[in-house]
Amino acid sequence: MSIRVTIWNEYVHEKSRPEAAALYPCGIHAFLRDVLKSEEIEVTTATLEEPEQGLPDAVLENTDVLIWWGHVKHQLVADELVEKIEKRVHEGMGMIFLHSAHKSKPFCRIIGTTGNLTWGREQRCVLWNLMPTHPIAKGVPAHFELREELYSEPFFVPKPDDLIFCTWYEDGNLFRGGMTYTRGLGKIFYFHPGHEICNSYYDKNVQQVLKNAVAWCAPTRYEGFDISKCHKQTEPIL
Ligand code: ZN
Repeated sequence: MSIRVTIWNEYVHEKSRPEAAALYPCGIHAFLRDVLKSEEIEVTTATLEEPEQGLPDAVLENTDVLIWWGHVKHQLVADELVEKIEKRVHEGMGMIFLHSAHKSKPFCRIIGTTGNLTWGREQRCVLWNLMPTHPIAKGVPAHFELREELYSEPFFVPKPDDLIFCTWYEDGNLFRGGMTYTRGLGKIFYFHPGHEICNSYYDKNVQQVLKNAVAWCAPTRYEGFDISKCHKQTEPIL
């Protein structure tokens, strides 16, 4: 059975900044769809301007992994939708938060954070692979370079389950650039590359990380297990 991925994008910069439109003429969501789709991964896209902000119940319920890219329109995302997303994560839907999604409503709500960090100019950076044995780091070299917007510590998030990538910037800053969380049954990955005027999503290593992350975040399927019926008073077992 293939993994059903939905890529959500606020889809603003690609229509308003020529540099972003040049890199992603059909939007970051469409670009990532073409990167990820395969025999194993089925991809649909959703944007803020679509009815029900792109995520009606039928779409959410049929999503195994939700990828989120947002930046300047976080506040327009409906609180009711955020609640539904959190519920789906608790039930096992995976989530991948990209770049400025660190400040999105779903990230802050699900992770339990303000999402605050420090940022700066675009520059050369080196992503260090701290956990080469982790499934998300499979096939990724010990380190690789990108040109990205600077994101820096302190990043006010709870301690992650695993810190897979740490990014060094030529200005000297460090950032926990790739890390995992679990909330309920849902597996979550935050990954910092993806500033709208940087070409990081063209990078083969970034693409490999995203493919690995989709596979890792996909829900474990428990045959015959109904999560809605597992909150109950127990009887003595002996
Ligand atoms: Zn950015």
